[in-house]
This record gives sequence, structure tokens and C-alpha cells, in this order.
Amino acid sequence: MKNIAIIGAGTMGNGIAHVFAQNNYKVNLIDITQASLDKGIATITKNLDRMVAKDKITETDKTNTLANITLCTTLAEGVKNTELVVEAATENVDLKLKIFKDLDALCDADTILATNTSSISITKIAAETKRPDKVIGMHFMNPVPIMQLVEIIRGYNTSDAVTATIMKVATNLGKTPTEVNDYPGFVANRILMPMINEAIETLYNGVAGVSEIDTVMKLGMAHPMGPLQLADFIGLDVCLSILNVMYDGFKNPKYAPCPLLVNMVMAKKLGVKSGEGFYDYSASRKAEKVAAQFLN
Ligand code: NAD
Repeated sequence: MKNIAIIGAGTMGNGIAHVFAQNNYKVNLIDITQASLDKGIATITKNLDRMVAKDKITETDKTNTLANITLCTTLAEGVKNTELVVEAATENVDLKLKIFKDLDALCDADTILATNTSSISITKIAAETKRPDKVIGMHFMNPVPIMQLVEIIRGYNTSDAVTATIMKVATNLGKTPTEVNDYPGFVANRILMPMINEAIETLYNGVAGVSEIDTVMKLGMAHPMGPLQLADFIGLDVCLSILNVMYDGFKNPKYAPCPLLVNMVMAKKLGVKSGEGFYDYSASRKAEKVAAQFLN
């Protein structure tokens, strides 16, 4: 497998393109606007520069990585002659169902269709295609170039051969793939999101403030960052949407999103990406400083 396409150049898509390109895959990075693609490639370049500065890669590695990436604004152009597509577009069920229907029509019959969805059913996405055996979850973690895990999610019909191929691809990227089954939230978010939701509930109930809650979890549980700061990095809208998928999927009130989270998303306080969430990132590029601290 050599030629792949990534759909979406946002937070996750540009990171996924980065790791594939750095490992000598030819990557077509697809987004709906040239501006999104320009922003994505600028992030990849900045992250490669940081790796060069830290002597993790050479200037030649950086040049080769960037040369492996082609930017595309249409699906038809981007997926042509690719053996694997990794979809990392916005977390929206209808959008993903439409993309997979289109992919099924546009891609070669053997092309494997993977999704980086955090919570949407792989089985449901696969049912939009005539190749449900070749649809699989490839759930990278944020920030992709740094995080070791790829959660590999088998849909109801995903074949053994496709699962083995994708496990091998993730290993080729220097990651550690872990196979799980397709139930709401899979494993990572089924465990992480209730913790984040409980941290928000603890704040909502006035038990402690933002920095106190994060300090308890950082210093008491040796977490690299507190749950409220992590929620800001993931995006509060993404957290809300994952909790709603689990709430709907299990019909269990333990997954009900905290009303404070719902209010913050309605108020467009989405975390780092909007400049404010539980922390204020607007002044003096604080988000980048906090991120740099975490990535070191
Ligand atoms: P994002 O909002 O940063 O980026 C999404 C990108 O998709 C945008 O650039 C948007 O323009 C593009 N897009 C939308 N519709 C498109 C289309 N039809 N064709 C091509 N591009 C399109 O979102 P993100 O945080 O990168 O999330 C992407 C996916 O990764 C989601 O499914 C999300 O659940 C999942 N995910 C996110 C995280 C995280 O921490 N943010 C972690 C793991 C998985």
C-alpha cells in the first residue's frame, strides 16, 4: 500500500497526513476549501520545523515529508488510484454517511475505507457502502504525530483480512494499534468521556474550581493534563457530540452530558479552537504555549 487519501485537513486530518507522509506514503489531503488545506499544511510545516529543531528529524526528512503530500479540493480528484482512504472530516453523522456513499462510488473496488470518527458507529457508516467488509475505524489520538495509540474498530462486517492490513499499516506508522469492537464510544471515549463529564459536573456542582479539579487529576493521578484542559484541547463540541452518541446508544443516564457543557457549546465556548473554554486562550497565544508544554 503506497497511495492514500485523507479527507479533512483539520486538527486530526493534518496530523494523520503528517504521519503517513513522514513514513513514505503518497498522501492526497482533501478538504472543501483551499483555505482549510493551506491552514492544514501550515500546521504540518510548523510541527515538522519543531521536530527538526529538536533533532528528531533532518531538514531532508522535512522536505521529503512535504513532497509526499498533494492538496486536493475535490473528492473525485483526491481518491483516484488510492488503496486506502482515511476520513477525518467533521464529526457529523449525515456528513459521514454522504462521504462514504460517495467514496463507494468513486473508489476502486479493493480500496479500504477507514474513518477516524470518535464515536459514530462503523457498522452504520459501512452500511452506506457495497463493501462493508472493507470499512473500518482507524481512530488516531490527538496530537497525532505524538500519540502512540491507534484504536482499530471492527464494524459488524469488517473482514479479518482488512483488520490485519490496517493493523499492519498502523504499525508501519510507528504506532501501536489496538483492536476493539464497534459499540458506542468504542473503548477510548467510553472511558475518557465519563471522566471528563464528571469533572465538568464537579465544577457545575461547585465542589472545586477549574484549576483545582485539574490539579487533583494531574498531581494525584499522574495525568499529563487535567480533564478540563483536555476537554478544551479535544473541543467541547466534540465532547458533547460523543457523550450524546453514548447516551443515545446505551439509553443510560450515566452518559447524559452535564448541562454546563451543553451551555458552553451553545455559547460557542469550544475550547482551544474558539479561543475560550474552561481556560482563556485568547491572550498572548496561550493555547500554543500550553500545547508546547504538553508536547515537550
Ligand atoms: P476539525 O473541525 O478540526 O476538522 C474537520 C475538517 O473537515 C475541516 O477542515 C472541514 O473543512 C473538513 N470537512 C468538512 N466536510 C468535508 C468534506 N465533505 N470533505 C472534505 N473535508 C471536509 O475536526 P477534527 O477535530 O479534526 O475531527 C475530525 C474527525 O476526527 C472527527 O470525526 C472527530 O470525531 C475525530 N477525532 C477528533 C479528535 C480530536 O481530539 N479533535 C480525536 C480523535 C478523533
